[in-house]
Amino acid sequence: MNHFELRGGVMHVEDVSLPVLAAAVGTPVYVYSTATILRHIAVLREGLRQAESGPDGPWIAFAVKANPNRAVLATMARAGLGADVVSAGEMLRALAAGIPADRIVFSGVGKTADEMALALTHGVGQFNVESEPEAATLSAVATRLGMTARVAYRINPDVDAGTHAKISTGKSDNKFGIPYDTAVAAYARAAALPGIRVQGVAVHIGSQLTDLKPLEAAFERVGGLIGELRAAGHVIVTADLGGGLGVPYDPSHPAPPSPGDYGAMVARVTRGWNVRLMFEPGRLIVGNAGILLSTVVRVKEGSTSPWVILDAAMNDLLRPSLYDAWHDIRAVAPAGERFVANVVGPVCESGDTFATARPMDSVVEGDLVAFMTAGAYGATMASTYNSRALTPEVLVDGAEWAVVRARPPIETLIAADTLPPWLEEQA
Ligand SMILES: *Cc1c(COP(=O)(O)O)cnc(C)c1O
Repeated sequence: MNHFELRGGVMHVEDVSLPVLAAAVGTPVYVYSTATILRHIAVLREGLRQAESGPDGPWIAFAVKANPNRAVLATMARAGLGADVVSAGEMLRALAAGIPADRIVFSGVGKTADEMALALTHGVGQFNVESEPEAATLSAVATRLGMTARVAYRINPDVDAGTHAKISTGKSDNKFGIPYDTAVAAYARAAALPGIRVQGVAVHIGSQLTDLKPLEAAFERVGGLIGELRAAGHVIVTADLGGGLGVPYDPSHPAPPSPGDYGAMVARVTRGWNVRLMFEPGRLIVGNAGILLSTVVRVKEGSTSPWVILDAAMNDLLRPSLYDAWHDIRAVAPAGERFVANVVGPVCESGDTFATARPMDSVVEGDLVAFMTAGAYGATMASTYNSRALTPEVLVDGAEWAVVRARPPIETLIAADTLPPWLEEQA
């Protein structure tokens, strides 16, 4: 079911018409659908029901970096989700949105001692530790505070996730996790550290995965390690299988595996593990729950195809420029005609290109277009490059909508810079 559909020839998000929203808030603007977020959570939970996960059910920790808007996180909190965070900032956002600390997992290769102390003080549920020096620092911090950190090591299983190189994280030459082959020895040393309680094993091999096989290979290694660790006397109660399941971006490509297929694979591989399973989905929950709404500033003649110049740019949606990502671009009120165009933003870089020679709905100056599947890794990566205001965000719920991040006036951006005393007089 789709919550972004044409009604009377005009695209709506649930019961809200996009031209009405654009007139009220201006463009570019991200628009998210609550019903779609909740539906994705329900479908994932349904898929995971196939797997044994202990009396409390699976611990689903939304990967905050995919979409850290506080209203989005509050939607996750209401639905009972936890959070996977990779910085103190993300942890504080998750807490501010009402996600209980004991449902928060702290991941990332570069946690500082200050971040660890803050996370311990708040009582986060698990630290996914990515190296032995990190374990040593965490031990020192926890000991100083008189606390105990619950820890899983993130294992680097050395499997090729088959995704874009910039979002592949499970090969031995990636910076993430500890090598699988030396994990048993690393666990033995960690268990001997004061202030640390080893409780689980974690893995996350990459993002936008469209094949279950590399995930299955990684999970099998986790299962093998749990057996070895238990044989060595460790008490292992959690297995964190990470995130990474892909979402459909291009309707002409085969659909990625469904949460049902994923759940069936997880159930098969994890049978008999006797742990609480943990998951860190990001894109799967929010990717298709958001769009970026933009206005055509002008259409300019090109050598082969016309240039459609939008008011959205790479600073609003970085994925095409960073990952060569493909987003469906649709007219909000399609006239029924199609053409082939290059779609670009106004930023002064040739990399500010959303689509090249793209067959799409015909558009003219002043028309609205929607970038589909922009709810994950969209607004969160926005910047103010070219001194453009940070992109605002709107959350829709049925017929209701609210601005959940306002477009800041450009004066705020300018006022954030301060002059040193020796330049003040001239200014
Ligand atoms: C980014 C990330 C995720 C989420 O990845 P998705 O592809 O959005 O599901 C989960 N876990 C960790 C450790 C991550 O870095």
